[in-house]
Amino acid sequence: MFKNHLVLKTAVLFALLLGFVYFVPAQTRGVTAEAQRITGDRFTISTRTPKGARIIAVTRPNRAMLNAIDRGLTDLFAVARKNRYSRGLRYSDYTIYIAKADRNRDAAGRYSPDIAVGAAQYAGSVYDKGGYIYAAGMVVSFNPMAFVIAEHTSDLGRVSNLVRYEGEHLVLYHNDRRKYAATADHSRGGGHPILK
Ligand SMILES: [Zn+2]
Repeated sequence: MFKNHLVLKTAVLFALLLGFVYFVPAQTRGVTAEAQRITGDRFTISTRTPKGARIIAVTRPNRAMLNAIDRGLTDLFAVARKNRYSRGLRYSDYTIYIAKADRNRDAAGRYSPDIAVGAAQYAGSVYDKGGYIYAAGMVVSFNPMAFVIAEHTSDLGRVSNLVRYEGEHLVLYHNDRRKYAATADHSRGGGHPILK
């Protein structure tokens, strides 16, 4: 009886361990499939920022890029706490996809690595460039929290801002659903920063 009990406990523990081990990557695989669908890229690099955010990329990002991402999250968490939000404020809550840029300069010629994404709700608006739009960043998943930005080789201050801005949508989704709904769609006006 004691022995059976131990066997059962071991089996449950083993199942739990397996469940844990398989659950997280399976979930991430689904999100990565979605990020690949949005960007047309293949993400093969997986790493973490010094503060623990998960990074999935096409090309291995350098330390400066990872630090810029951490700075953006730090800024996001500070302004979120100021607004008395408490959910989703750990670096490890975030998965950030770094895609290949589909353009490096905007229409005015400024350095602006962006990704081309299907126009969807922006169809016919000034953002619509014929079935797709250029976006600086885009939310990929709310659970787990994930978004995509483009590779940058300079202007890493822009990276920090993009991380904070895409993160705003995720923080609002988890802390203030009404405000999230009112600010999620930029095609009707409104931009970033949302949180002051
Ligand atoms: Zn936005």
